[in-house]
Amino acid sequence: MCRLSWVISDGESGNQTGPISEDVYVVATIDCGLPWPQIRRVKHLLGVLGSCPQSTMSHQLLEPFLVHIRIDGFEVPTALLVILLQTFIYSAICSSVALVYFELMYLATRSLYFRGFLKRYAPLDSTRHISIVFWSLMSAFLLPIFTALTCQSGTQRSFAFNPISCCAHTLLYMAIHDVLFFYMHFAMHKFHSLHLVYKYVHAMHHDAVHLMNAYAIGYADFGDDFLTIGVPWAIWTLIAGSNWWNWMLPFSFMLSATYIGHSGYRSASPWFTLFNPLFLPIMLLVGKQALSPADHQVHHTYRRYNFGLFLRLLDKWHKTYRKSDKIAYDVHYWKEWVQVKENRDSLANNKCDEGIKFEELAI
Ligand SMILES: [Zn+2]
Ligand SMILES: [Zn+2]
Repeated sequence: MCRLSWVISDGESGNQTGPISEDVYVVATIDCGLPWPQIRRVKHLLGVLGSCPQSTMSHQLLEPFLVHIRIDGFEVPTALLVILLQTFIYSAICSSVALVYFELMYLATRSLYFRGFLKRYAPLDSTRHISIVFWSLMSAFLLPIFTALTCQSGTQRSFAFNPISCCAHTLLYMAIHDVLFFYMHFAMHKFHSLHLVYKYVHAMHHDAVHLMNAYAIGYADFGDDFLTIGVPWAIWTLIAGSNWWNWMLPFSFMLSATYIGHSGYRSASPWFTLFNPLFLPIMLLVGKQALSPADHQVHHTYRRYNFGLFLRLLDKWHKTYRKSDKIAYDVHYWKEWVQVKENRDSLANNKCDEGIKFEELAI
């Protein structure tokens, strides 16, 4: 077990071995009993972060953050503030990159849709909710990055690419994340005792009822993605091993798959294999057990079905799987459809998209 605890002392009680400031100590102890190499390597934890910046910032400001790390008896002075700052900066960079990736996928799929290569289950809403999606992505990245910076900062990462190993790790990751996601998601929807969690964590994501463009993936409260994505990503960070690709590619697959899951496009198209190199092999391996955008649309419309993230297996086991009866149509169909007022009014209960602008009207 890897045990991490932060102990605050006033400089007079035991444990600390050297002052970071004159009168304040924070001692962090990590006890590493795990046999896994990446966990044992935390001996080097935070050594790269530099020493405490007490000379440049006031003691009062830094008091809560001054840290002294003790790992298996090896002590490294550093500052928790620096770790938190690094976590924030790296999360912001990752979230910005993911946002750019989302926008490129939005533009590429829209272009394919306009050219008749893709079909949709609903007209395409152009609303983006950029800032909400950015903070939602931040909430997903913070915990795994903090985990990587603390528990794994000494890990020597390998960049050797082995496609079979990547696929095997992605399948393992999918199984772990799917189980965690399903039961968290199921509990928030079904357990009355958790209705406040549903209300303040997950309800916002269900503002999208009938209409989804792919940005609906990040239309969620901060706590939603922190819990249902950040926690599983942090667990995967601990167990993925030291190979960079085996660690990161499953995350990219998850972002791509859930993005397409919210896109409203019919996913049975070879064009989607262009957006992530893992799509083709994983879809060939998983086959019809993969949840589709139509399946997730059923979850947003009825809320009682299809709680899974990647796979239909747990929904089928718990008898909460419902197949979509929606038919996908091309851009010409939806262009005519959105010009009828009654049709547009039928989408009015889509709370997140009041004042909808349809892309079809622009062509
Ligand atoms: Zn839900
Ligand atoms: Zn959703």
